[in-house]
Amino acid sequence: MTKDAFSDWTKVIKTTTKPDKESGAINPAIQLSSTFEQRDFDHFGHWDYARSGNPTRDVLEESIAELEHGTRGFAFATGMAAISTALLTLNQGDHVILTKNVYGGTFRLVEEVLTKYGISHTFVDLGNPADLEEAFQDNTKVVYVETPSNPTLQVTDIRLVAKIAHDHGALVFADNTFMTPVLQKPLDLGADLVVHSATKFLAGHSDILAGLVVTKDEDLGKQIYFLQNAMGATLGVSDSWLLMRGIKTLAVRMEKESQNALELAQWLEQQELVTKVNYPGLEADAGYAVQSSQAKSGGAVLSFDIGSEDNVRQLVAELKIPIFSVSLGAVESIISYPPKMSHAEMNVEERHDRGITDGLVRYSVGLEDINDLKADLHQAFLKIKE
Ligand SMILES: *Cc1c(COP(=O)(O)O)cnc(C)c1O
Repeated sequence: MTKDAFSDWTKVIKTTTKPDKESGAINPAIQLSSTFEQRDFDHFGHWDYARSGNPTRDVLEESIAELEHGTRGFAFATGMAAISTALLTLNQGDHVILTKNVYGGTFRLVEEVLTKYGISHTFVDLGNPADLEEAFQDNTKVVYVETPSNPTLQVTDIRLVAKIAHDHGALVFADNTFMTPVLQKPLDLGADLVVHSATKFLAGHSDILAGLVVTKDEDLGKQIYFLQNAMGATLGVSDSWLLMRGIKTLAVRMEKESQNALELAQWLEQQELVTKVNYPGLEADAGYAVQSSQAKSGGAVLSFDIGSEDNVRQLVAELKIPIFSVSLGAVESIISYPPKMSHAEMNVEERHDRGITDGLVRYSVGLEDINDLKADLHQAFLKIKE
């Protein structure tokens, strides 16, 4: 059996459990050393200075590359550090097309930072191939996809976007934060580079910030390596270790949390107070067919509308289980109110244009008992109706 014949359930364990040759310790050491002794004046070893690479981070970087079916992986201090490093492969005068439902931090990066360096962009509805075709310019180098999107869970057909982008000579970058490689492998679907906020599902416990990049080919890998070392937003060794600890349970968490999310979405569809449920694992969802063709499930995040900001305010006050906060992808359920949290910087029209209505709640479903999660929502809904 070759290594690649293993399923992801085996790989999340095998790639993060590397017995140390000298001591036999089964976990990679947290190698707290900024520099590495060179034994010979003329021949330097594999590691020299820890920004350029270190034994702990190396194991993590190989693990994510293997899980995403890429050639090289890179670990960064945050998701935004990973995304900005990836986008800085672009040069002055280049143009990037992004999904209009892109993560808020990525929106800010292209709008307020990359523009300063002469890198321009266009936001399009990637669900509409004609809009995408129209957005290409002679200098378009990258199409940036995020699927399913936040917080309305809109699905983009990665194969279709990759075909169109490649026909125009552009690369495809995919933010795979919401799915992780155990549910969706963008590189297998035609993308050239994957980015992650590993802060979310990959770490999985709301404990660290981290970002990852994986490239499909060696050439793009070399560019990212150069920039990772040149800009230096690397992940520290303790957080690299914690991230690997999280990855070990990724497959089991994603499966169970997806099951919980599907069951919760189906239950929410039946509730009088709920006017809309966004979850691509529901057969009635507009993204269901594409999602089923490119991912193993609908994932663990859903959103639903209960009519008004006042109703959401009451819901947040009455719920006993989920944490009310930004972020997602953890063992504990987390609810958030996008209009005042992740999407507070948008004006009302921009928000409504993206389906982020005043009664919208985002729910990142954790590992609690699904019957408790439903009962909790049920008691809160009863109070709202009074
Ligand atoms: C959180 C998030 C990011 C940013 O990651 P940080 O780790 O917070 O820097 C990027 N993309 C998506 C989809 C996210 O949810």
